[in-house]
Amino acid sequence: MGRLPREVRGKPRSVRPDTMHTMTGPTLNRDYERRPYWHATMPSLHARSGRQLPDIVDVAIVGGGYTGVAAARKLALQGAKAVLLEARTLGYGASSRNGGIIHPGFKWGPRTLVKRYGPELARAIYGESMEAFELVSGLIRDNDIDAELRPNGWLELAWAPSHFDHFADEAAALAPWGTRARIVEKARLREEIGTDAYHGGLAVEPGGILHPGKWFAGLVGLAERAGADLHEATPVLAIRRQADGRFVVETSRGAILARDVLVATNGYTDGAVPSVRRRIVPIVSSIIATEPLPEDLAHEVSPTGRAYFDTKNFLSYWHVSADRRVIFGGRVSFLPQSPERTARALFDRMLAIHPQVAGYRVEYSWGGNVAMTFDRMPHIGRLGGIMHAVGYSGTGVLMSTYLGTRAAEWLGGGEPPALAMLRFRLVPAPYEGRPWFLPFIGEAFRLQDRLAVRGVAPPGRSGPTPAASADESAQGQ
Ligand SMILES: Cc1cc2nc3c(=O)[nH]c(=O)nc-3n(C[C@H](O)[C@H](O)[C@H](O)COP(=O)(O)OP(=O)(O)OC[C@H]3O[C@@H](n4cnc5c(N)ncnc54)[C@H](O)[C@@H]3O)c2cc1C
Repeated sequence: MGRLPREVRGKPRSVRPDTMHTMTGPTLNRDYERRPYWHATMPSLHARSGRQLPDIVDVAIVGGGYTGVAAARKLALQGAKAVLLEARTLGYGASSRNGGIIHPGFKWGPRTLVKRYGPELARAIYGESMEAFELVSGLIRDNDIDAELRPNGWLELAWAPSHFDHFADEAAALAPWGTRARIVEKARLREEIGTDAYHGGLAVEPGGILHPGKWFAGLVGLAERAGADLHEATPVLAIRRQADGRFVVETSRGAILARDVLVATNGYTDGAVPSVRRRIVPIVSSIIATEPLPEDLAHEVSPTGRAYFDTKNFLSYWHVSADRRVIFGGRVSFLPQSPERTARALFDRMLAIHPQVAGYRVEYSWGGNVAMTFDRMPHIGRLGGIMHAVGYSGTGVLMSTYLGTRAAEWLGGGEPPALAMLRFRLVPAPYEGRPWFLPFIGEAFRLQDRLAVRGVAPPGRSGPTPAASADESAQGQ
C-alpha cells in the first residue's frame, strides 16, 4: 500500500496523453492484484449452483449480469415463472468489472440521433436513457442500497480542438431534451479536473458514478426478494424451437421447456444463439485502480467528483472512487495483449493525463468484454422468436438494467421500448464469433485519433460519446 520511493516518483508534467509511449516515466509496480477492485470490496454472493432446475417455465433467461438479473426481478414481480441460467457465477461478466460510469445518452449525440432516426424516435430513444438513469438511481435510493452512488455528472474531454468546437452545439442540442450541459474552456478546465492535457470539456448532468459490484449485489438482493430463481454453473448450450412455438433450452444440466427465452449475454455471447452472436463484436476493455490518494491530491485530480472520459477512439475513462483511488480504464489495443502490457499502457496513459499521481501504486488491474454493435446502439427485440437485450456499446451500466426490465414487461404483455424500433444489423463481415477484422478497425481508429489532433480529419465522433466510456467503441471499457 505504501508509496514508491521518491526517486521513482515523476515530476509533475503536463504532457498530452499520446506522448506517453515516448516517455521513460515512473515504473509500474508488479505486485498489483489481477482481479477487479470491485470484487475485493463488494458483498460476497452466496453460491447458486447445483440446485434443481425447473422442467417448464414461462421464461428462460440466459446470462446473469445486470440485464438478466433485472429481467428476473421484474418477471418475478409480475408473477411469471422464470429461471435465470448463468454459465459461471452471477456477475461474472462485465456487470462486476465495469468503470461504474452512469450517463444517459448514447454513443451518438442528439443531432446524429435525429439524423439517423428522425426527431420523434430520436427523442423517444434518448428519453429511455433518461428513464434508465431514474430507474437505477431510484432503485438504489428507494431500497437503501449501498452502491456508492454519486450523481455528480460527467465531463467529456476534447482530445482534438475540432472535438471541442463540437461541444457548444451538443450542449445546445441536449438542453431541450432535459439534459444540462455546459462547455468548459481549456483555461477553466482545472476547476473541473486536474489536467491540462485536453482542449476543453463538456460538463453534463444528470449522470455520475457508482460502485458496479455493490450495485450488482444490491440488484441480486432485490431479485431474490422478489422471488427470482437464479442458477449458476449452468451454461445454455443450444435453443430449439418446437412446432408448438415453445423453446427447448438445452443446458449442461438438462433441458428446460420455455414459452419464451431472453438472451442477456452481451459481450460474453457465445454460440448458443448464433443469430445474436452474428450481430455483436466482443471487445476487451481494461481498468487499473491505484491505492487511495491523500485527500488533497484526490481533490486536485477530481475537484467536482465527476466521471471523466475523452473523445478518442482509443478512449480513456476514469474517476476517483469513494475511497479516493483513481479508477482508470480504456481501450489499449484491438490485438490480444498480455495483462501486464495492458496495465502498463493504462498506467502510462493515466500519468500522461495526471502526472501528479506518479509515485502512487497500482493495486488492481483487470479487464472484461464489452459488446459493440454495427450502429453502436443497444438492441432489444426478437430474432427467430427469441428475445434479446444486448449490445450496449458503452451505455450498459444504466441501459442493461433498463432493457432487462423492459424486456420482462414486454414478455408480460407490455409495450416494447422505442429502442426495439432500431434495426439490428449483422456485423458486415463473414463472422462466427472470432472478430478477425478488429486489428484493421484498430489501425483505422488510431489513424483517425492522430489526424484529429492535427486537424486534418473530421472528428471521430458526432456528439457526446458517453458510450465511448466504457463499453464501446467500441470504445471501451
Ligand atoms: C472493463 C469494462 C468497463 C466498463 N465500463 C462501463 C461504464 O463505465 N459505464 C457503462 O455504462 N458501461 C460500462 N461497461 C459495460 C457494462 O458493464 C455492460 O454493458 C453491462 O455490464 C452489460 O450487462 P449484461 O448483464 O448485459 O452482460 P454481462 O454482465 O456481461 O453478463 C453476461 C453474462 O452472460 C453469461 N453467459 C454468456 N453465455 C452464456 C450461456 N451460453 N449460458 C449462460 N450464461 C451465459 C456470462 O457468463 C455473463 O455472466 C464496461 C464494461 C467493461 C468490461
